[in-house]
Amino acid sequence: MRFDELSLSAALLRAVAAEGYDKPTPIQEMAIPPALAGKDVLGCAQTGTGKTAAFALPILQKLSATGETRGRRRIRALVLTPTRELAAQVADNFVRYGAQTTLRTVVIFGGVSQVPQVEGLKRGADVVVATPGRLLDLIQQGYVELGGVEVFVLDEADRMLDMGFIHDIRKVASHVPRKRQTLFFSATLPEDIRVLASDLLYDPIRVAVDPPASTVELIEQAVCFVEKGDKLNLLKHLLSVPELRRVLVFARTKHGSDKVVKLLKRDGVGALAIHGNKSQGARTRALDGFKAGDTRILVATDIAARGLDVEDIDLVVNFDLPHEPEVYVHRIGRTGRAGGRGTAISFCAQEERDDLAAIERLIAMHLIRVSDHPHRSPIPPPPVTTLKGREKPGSGRTPAPTEGAVRRSSDRGHRRGPRRTHR
Ligand code: AMP
Repeated sequence: MRFDELSLSAALLRAVAAEGYDKPTPIQEMAIPPALAGKDVLGCAQTGTGKTAAFALPILQKLSATGETRGRRRIRALVLTPTRELAAQVADNFVRYGAQTTLRTVVIFGGVSQVPQVEGLKRGADVVVATPGRLLDLIQQGYVELGGVEVFVLDEADRMLDMGFIHDIRKVASHVPRKRQTLFFSATLPEDIRVLASDLLYDPIRVAVDPPASTVELIEQAVCFVEKGDKLNLLKHLLSVPELRRVLVFARTKHGSDKVVKLLKRDGVGALAIHGNKSQGARTRALDGFKAGDTRILVATDIAARGLDVEDIDLVVNFDLPHEPEVYVHRIGRTGRAGGRGTAISFCAQEERDDLAAIERLIAMHLIRVSDHPHRSPIPPPPVTTLKGREKPGSGRTPAPTEGAVRRSSDRGHRRGPRRTHR
């Protein structure tokens, strides 16, 4: 399908062409037509699938087609996102896709002064992209009036629930007119999300896409069995490969990420941490330095890395394995973006072996077991077992950029056929 088959306006088609998009992604193909028709949409898709344009383009089209540009603007579309980074990114997409319209977008999030945000609101906004907490603050102070909202979007709803925003979301929803269009996106659809969706959506069209192909097809995924006390040495060993210019390291906790940075720095390895305890300024600086290539290693927690859109990450390291297997998929999706090849290496200590098994079940493949690294766990690795009969011999993989620092012991980390996270 082509973009011009989606009944989008000429202004939006030009904006999409200016972004260099040749054709809609699957979620865009599926979600844009019902969204343009005014239907509610329940989309199961994660970052990297092009979901932002899937809701932004129909919203921009709707608002510019029926826009009252005279008089005071009112907020006609509201997008809620879990994190500041994602809010900024989504708002930036609205601005870029709407460059040839007269619509205005304002972004609202906490951790920074509210003054510029309030000034933006006073100048008038058609679209507001916000995190729930600061939005509720500004509603209370009388700076935000949501009575004119025609389209309400929840982006990464599962992550918002994980972050404890359920009450805030419901409170925000109570300020939005009942008669509205709701577009609801979530990477996963556990029970609490289904309940929320059924309360907020009216007769939705359901659309679902698999995570970006890169997750399975293009990312070299390996695991090193290493005990906790040796993880840092193994990380330093990996980082000794100079070709790795941009490395994203995931730690489970804020404290853990600070500790990794501190110990790397002590050994002369430059790294910065990004997590929720850092000020917004520090997070933005760390991210900008990483994007610009000034910071080679960024150590992040999951929440801080949500929505992180950095191209050309050479390696993702899971310093700790996440307890929820879906989080693993989000993490590794940071490498191999835009169709490029990427590499993800996970460190697995003895107490994390159950987490690894859950991940391998979810992605229906085994990670490549790296046995010849210098900090091997003395405990023998767990056996590679059949995953629901999906095994498919052979991998046809190309060597990872880490080859040399870490070589695989055998070719056992093959792909196992199509991955399904959403059933
Ligand atoms: P998202 O899932 O919305 O975070 O989008 C992930 C990335 O895909 C962003 O860098 C977008 O700019 C890009 N993107 C969105 N739609 C398309 C498209 N149709 N073709 C190519 N890239 C796209």
